[in-house]
Amino acid sequence: MTSREKEVKRFAIKFLPSMKRTSPRILIIGAGPCGIGAAWNLHQRGYRNWTLYEQNNHAGGLSASFRDKTGFIWDLGGHVFFSRSVTFQRFLKDLPHGGLTRHQRNAWIFTHQTWIPYPLQNNIHFLPQTEYQRCLRSIRRQASLKGSPENFYDWLIDRFGRYVADRYMVPLNQKMWSYPLRRLSKDWIETRISPLSQTDRQEHHCSRIHNRHWGGNHDFFYPLHGGIGQVFRSATRSFQSHIVYDRPVRRIFSNRKTVVFQNGGRDYYDELIFTGDVRDLTAMLSPVNIKIKNAAKRLKSNSLFVLGLGFSQKRCDQRTWMYFSSKRLPFYRITNLSNYSVNNTPPKRRQGYSSLLLEIRSAPATKRQENALLGRCLKGLINCGLIKEVDQDHLISIFTRTCSNAYPLPTLSRDRILDTIHPQLQKSHIYALGRFGAFRYEAGNMDVCFMQGFRAINRILRS
Ligand SMILES: Cc1cc2nc3c(=O)[nH]c(=O)nc-3n(C[C@H](O)[C@H](O)[C@H](O)COP(=O)(O)OP(=O)(O)OC[C@H]3O[C@@H](n4cnc5c(N)ncnc54)[C@H](O)[C@@H]3O)c2cc1C
Repeated sequence: MTSREKEVKRFAIKFLPSMKRTSPRILIIGAGPCGIGAAWNLHQRGYRNWTLYEQNNHAGGLSASFRDKTGFIWDLGGHVFFSRSVTFQRFLKDLPHGGLTRHQRNAWIFTHQTWIPYPLQNNIHFLPQTEYQRCLRSIRRQASLKGSPENFYDWLIDRFGRYVADRYMVPLNQKMWSYPLRRLSKDWIETRISPLSQTDRQEHHCSRIHNRHWGGNHDFFYPLHGGIGQVFRSATRSFQSHIVYDRPVRRIFSNRKTVVFQNGGRDYYDELIFTGDVRDLTAMLSPVNIKIKNAAKRLKSNSLFVLGLGFSQKRCDQRTWMYFSSKRLPFYRITNLSNYSVNNTPPKRRQGYSSLLLEIRSAPATKRQENALLGRCLKGLINCGLIKEVDQDHLISIFTRTCSNAYPLPTLSRDRILDTIHPQLQKSHIYALGRFGAFRYEAGNMDVCFMQGFRAINRILRS
């Protein structure tokens, strides 16, 4: 490159973004649901000046699916679609992904050697009679008190009384979050945990029927083919030429509006949509903004180890997914993945296979630990009656995957931290969105993340 060419390139990097205002250059980092929401909007508008960079060689992010050598399909933990967003519903409908199947939630909780329908607090009448009476007293007593809980733990006690909280709700949630509940806020809860209405709390329904209808996911959809990730994979086919895979962003020069990739290449932007982890984003920003970098370090998340078990025999179990509160069991949730679609199992002899998807909080560090964990999981499945000893002979596939980020934790200081970070980033035309970009668990589902990306484009192209 001649010195003149170098000069022109330097000029282009420095000034081109601001000269292109009428058709700003938009970069999207990440091909998960959020990045795809932004891309989908751009594609539908026929907009051309944009590129999506993804560090993996596939789309989907945490919502990706994988086919193993045996032919089983695996998701990264139990994923289902349920959404009130008309735009997202239209997105699902318009795609050529092979159709969706509709299911009714049939979720259960295994606690103190008893199976109770989810949500537990709406179904305590499934407990043995004396236990049911104790729980009822706990809930009724609490209903007459007026508390002002300050954290998740206190909220559980305030809602359900000490007995129900300490015996059932705290152990279950402690296991799922793997973080002290007293250090989690209570502000995200209402749409995620059935709070029991005032009438429920005072009277409690003694109808003794399974209360199935609480929550947005009591009815849900799942792709007929290819697992949950099929939807996002098929979306990317519409704008394949705008996506670059295997391209991790490692530095962002906000003053020059340039992103630099791990392999050394670079690209410039007028507007940047970042859908990875906001903590990574603040760490890769140059010039360094110490205030937001340090603030981001205080954000917390938990991890996930996914263990998929494929069996060469059918299991007759109509449940969709199950929660487990006991510390003795390594898993906190199991999905009957083969129930969602027969195509989640190998193509030959379809009716003769089944698969279980186990979610575990802490990942094994070595192959030896992984084998030991597998042994404990199989033993746990037998103890809960999910499989019999002999079924182990039919185990023909084992899928494992570690997700270092699974849940962004709603800690007590989270909102204050995010209020420090996001406005600063936006001043530089950087929008941190999606599950770990926006970092709000309660706004971290696939549809909500998709819509964050989609709406960001509306805002950018309107301004
Ligand atoms: C166990 C579990 C169960 C869930 N169940 C449901 C459910 O039933 N229903 C539901 O709606 N939602 C569910 N979710 C949430 C769902 O997974 C997320 O909503 C969704 O995947 C978030 O999309 P996203 O695009 O914001 O982020 P992600 O899916 O995390 O995608 C971010 C993408 O950015 C890429 N990236 C990150 N950093 C960089 C970089 N520096 N350079 C280039 N690329 C980068 C990543 O590789 C990734 O592909 C569940 C999540 C978990 C963990």
